[in-house]
Amino acid sequence: MFDKILIANRGEIALRVIRACREMGIASVAVHSTADADAMHVRMADESVCIGPAPSSASYLSMPAIISACEITGAQAIHPGYGFLSENAAFVQMVEDHGITFIGPRAEHIRIMGDKITAKDTMKNLGVPCVPGSEGGVDDVEDARKVAAAIGYPVIIKATAGGGGRGMKVAHDDKGLEVAFRTARAEAKAAFGNPDVYIEKYLQKPRHIEIQVFGDGKGRAVHLGERDCSLQRRHQKVLEEAPGPTITPEERARIGKICADAVARIGYAGAGTIEFLYEDGEFYFIEMNTRLQVEHPVTEAIFGVDLVRQQILVASGAEMEFRQEDLSIRGHSIEVRINAEKVPGFSPCPGRITQYHAPGGLGVRIDSALYDGYSIPPYYDSLIGKLIVHGRDRPEALARLDRALGELIVDGIDTTVPLFTALLQEPDILAGNYSIHWLERWLEQKFG
Ligand code: ADP
Repeated sequence: MFDKILIANRGEIALRVIRACREMGIASVAVHSTADADAMHVRMADESVCIGPAPSSASYLSMPAIISACEITGAQAIHPGYGFLSENAAFVQMVEDHGITFIGPRAEHIRIMGDKITAKDTMKNLGVPCVPGSEGGVDDVEDARKVAAAIGYPVIIKATAGGGGRGMKVAHDDKGLEVAFRTARAEAKAAFGNPDVYIEKYLQKPRHIEIQVFGDGKGRAVHLGERDCSLQRRHQKVLEEAPGPTITPEERARIGKICADAVARIGYAGAGTIEFLYEDGEFYFIEMNTRLQVEHPVTEAIFGVDLVRQQILVASGAEMEFRQEDLSIRGHSIEVRINAEKVPGFSPCPGRITQYHAPGGLGVRIDSALYDGYSIPPYYDSLIGKLIVHGRDRPEALARLDRALGELIVDGIDTTVPLFTALLQEPDILAGNYSIHWLERWLEQKFG
């Protein structure tokens, strides 16, 4: 087992990893930019190293600075969290070349899944059901038209290098296709440095259902059921729950096994998430994330496992602590993302927290790096915390969420808390009756 782990991240996820380290008796090293000198992850870690100025390109994304920090502190492994360098195959390679262990899958698997065309092709060959669409990429408008004619409108044009909900354009007819195709390519080139795009059938009322998988890197893998992340704004998740309100135990067992078998076959190591759109009882693969997800706590709640602990165990060469038959679901869990944003425009509003009080009580978990008097720097993602509740069933989880939101105090800045309070009044939310388009429509009706 490792003696010391460096966490190449900030905010709530850095704290999350530090917590697992402490429980396992492993020393933790925080890295931080000059803007984060007062951040909670720096205070909570056993050691810390300043790795550069405020912009993440010069600090949290600086591979040499992070590797130097490992060498200075003697950390034997790096946990990347999510975002930043967590899905950067070149970084993984560099880390391994320096004799440091990357807590995550091998570079090769990150590379395959990081290119969505290759990912889809790989998954298809492993028996995972995919969204109908182009075979590989589409290079010109003529090609795009042929594919669209074959699968039928509407279609969605997606960047193979895309991520974070960016680089996607919907087309409803031949005329719209030309514009969508050209803008998608231009945006993909500008945002990701790679103009390659592919086409998929645009599903009208799907849910976003993702399967948590975990591999030991030696050919054994399990699944930990699904999360429903259909509540989205601009293709970004806002609220997540597990189990999915519409998924039956039979569906879970079937798609879960397909996913576990697929990652077992490629010898995948650590945590991964296979994302699907789900419509009329069918699952359609869209992408795989080769890291811990923001919403992993809802899975931890219903299975009673610590996923970060398992990541560390597997990376160190130890066995994961469960087999498929040991895993069973207890109750229902919901997570809401607390962002420093002003509703309804969702413009970021960093600033100083004048008062902070976290809710507590049975079945309530807060993953956040906030504290009284903390100044949220303007340089990073606006996610400032996550509130996760667990109840014996969905109605209890909803009631608990409402209660916990009422206890939460974050003064001095605007947050997305009022959004969730309002959503809990909506019959569709209470009934679990929402597709990936529900939230956008609701926002439009409510705020125009
Ligand atoms: P990213 O990597 O940017 O998150 P994804 O491929 O995971 O991109 O898609 C993100 C979201 O975009 C999905 O959860 C869904 O809301 C929407 N989306 C993606 N593909 C389709 C599709 N074929 N039909 C309808 N919506 C889609």
